[in-house]
This record gives sequence, structure tokens and C-alpha cells, in this order.
Amino acid sequence: MSAPTIVNPGNGPTTSQEPVEVVHRTTAEPCSVHAAHKPTSHVNEIHHVWPLGQGGPNRADNRVVVCGTGHNSIHQLIAEYLTMKGAVPYSLLKQYTMGERQLAKLGYDRITRGAM
Ligand SMILES: [Zn+2]
Ligand SMILES: [Zn+2]
Repeated sequence: MSAPTIVNPGNGPTTSQEPVEVVHRTTAEPCSVHAAHKPTSHVNEIHHVWPLGQGGPNRADNRVVVCGTGHNSIHQLIAEYLTMKGAVPYSLLKQYTMGERQLAKLGYDRITRGAM
């Protein structure tokens, strides 16, 4: 597959400063936060678990492929983690999928630790 390209900086998740890398032909790299997709997500995005805008590295072990909806959700939940200093109530968490929760928590941990 071709290398991901950075497109539309500023047109990604509203809570993120990072430019969005779009990945096509996603049957090879399906969305990692939703077990099933209806409709199919034909165009996915690269999410940096420790967001670039928060000082995260652009390394393979910090990159995951997610659909646009999942990507927005993860950044929204990271913002909630930061606002609530990690104490996000279950009533809020349950509105997100397990995959979104795991990646948001991992991202928050990396942000607060300042390390992978
Ligand atoms: Zn992201
Ligand atoms: Zn998805």
C-alpha cells in the first residue's frame, strides 16, 4: 500500500491540533476501536495514542488506525480525562466503545507521564 499522506491540516478532530493522516484501502488496516463497521469505513485515519499536539512522538508504536468517528471520540475522551485529571465517571465512559476508552486512557497516561 502507498504511504499515508497528510491532508487537510486543521480539518481533523475538533479537539486536536494535529494534522490528520488518512489511510486508504482499509481492509488491510481496519479501524482498531470498533469491532465491526456498518457501513464500512473505507477511509481511516492515523491516531497518535500520545497526541502529537501534546508532545507525543510520530513512531510506529504510538500510531493506530481508526475511523473518523472513533478518532473524534478518542480525542473527546482524552480532553475529558485532562479536564477531570483522570477521574472520568463511568456514566461518561460508558458512552464510548471499549477500544475508544482504552486508547484514550493510554493516551492520557502517556501525556501525564511524559513518556511512552
Ligand atoms: Zn488523533
Ligand atoms: Zn471505527
